Amino acid sequence: MKEFQLIRQIQQETSIDAITGFDTGVKLGIGDDAAVLELAAGQDLVAATDTLNAGVHFPLDTEPYDIGYKCLAVNLSDMAAMGAKPRWALLSLSLPEASAEWVQSFAAGFKSLASTHKVSLVGGDTTSGPLSISLTALGVIEQGAQLTRAGASPGDLIVVSGTIGGAARVLDLLRAGGSVEEQHLLDRPQPRVDLGQALAGYASACIDISDGLLADIGHLLTASGCAARLEVAAMPHARVLDGLEDEVRWGYQLSGGDDYELLFTLPRSHEGMMAGWIQSTGINLSIIGEVESGEGVRCICPDESVFDPRGSGFEHFSQSP
Ligand code: ADP
Ligand code: MG
Repeated sequence: MKEFQLIRQIQQETSIDAITGFDTGVKLGIGDDAAVLELAAGQDLVAATDTLNAGVHFPLDTEPYDIGYKCLAVNLSDMAAMGAKPRWALLSLSLPEASAEWVQSFAAGFKSLASTHKVSLVGGDTTSGPLSISLTALGVIEQGAQLTRAGASPGDLIVVSGTIGGAARVLDLLRAGGSVEEQHLLDRPQPRVDLGQALAGYASACIDISDGLLADIGHLLTASGCAARLEVAAMPHARVLDGLEDEVRWGYQLSGGDDYELLFTLPRSHEGMMAGWIQSTGINLSIIGEVESGEGVRCICPDESVFDPRGSGFEHFSQSP
């Protein structure tokens, strides 16, 4: 199979044009030297890119469907964290062999998420080499309305969406050879695109949790020049963490990665908005702490003692790649 046939297959099998009554904004898509995309007046373009390398970012035996889903999901999560509406994607594929079966499964996973969020694939590059997928997402936002990591102030509430720690627990259970009911937490993270857009204009700072809550809140606090107090017992957890000792569960929730939930800070004056966001998005929101002045994160147990995740019996996970 030739490169141009693969590109044609990718084009056909990822196309969302059949979603009727929807303006993709694509003036010129796959097939020319570059794509031409239409921006409405008053909009800014938001761009993010992420690369997934086989054996590094996903196990070698990962289904192509899951790779197609996840390469888009991680980028849409970045769009969500900015409050942007994702519109287009560019895909750089390095493939060890030109396999139509591989592309078919990959495209199906990609399209399942692309059609949900109405994201059009408008270009890319296809080369022969070790399996690697690089995806660029392009989105739009009302001029100046982006959420950033900077902007949190002492007194703001710290809020997370969904549940956290589940993806890391699933990964540990799979590595131990078990089968896991909630494997979707790891394989099919749901980028919180609608929530991100709802938060624009209200949240003072926002980040998506990809590397673990503590690491990512650390980035937000550094950018904002603030500290935080976290109530560990207030962190929401998936069922896959049920039955674990508190310290072990907290360890997963603070240090486990790959959840792709949003963590944002909210001025108390906007606390009343939360119920409406929960209702409109169907995603639960939990207040897990408060921004303080200073630097660093204090994790506080229900008895007011300080919890140190490094002493939680969780070391085996935090040392793994
Ligand atoms: P050029 O050599 O001018 O870069 P290519 O032959 O690489 O052109 O690509 C031809 C067209 O196919 C371009 O529009 C490009 O964006 C698109 N394309 C190539 N690879 C992919 C891919 N993996 N996914 C989506 N579009 C692709
Ligand atoms: Mg090219």
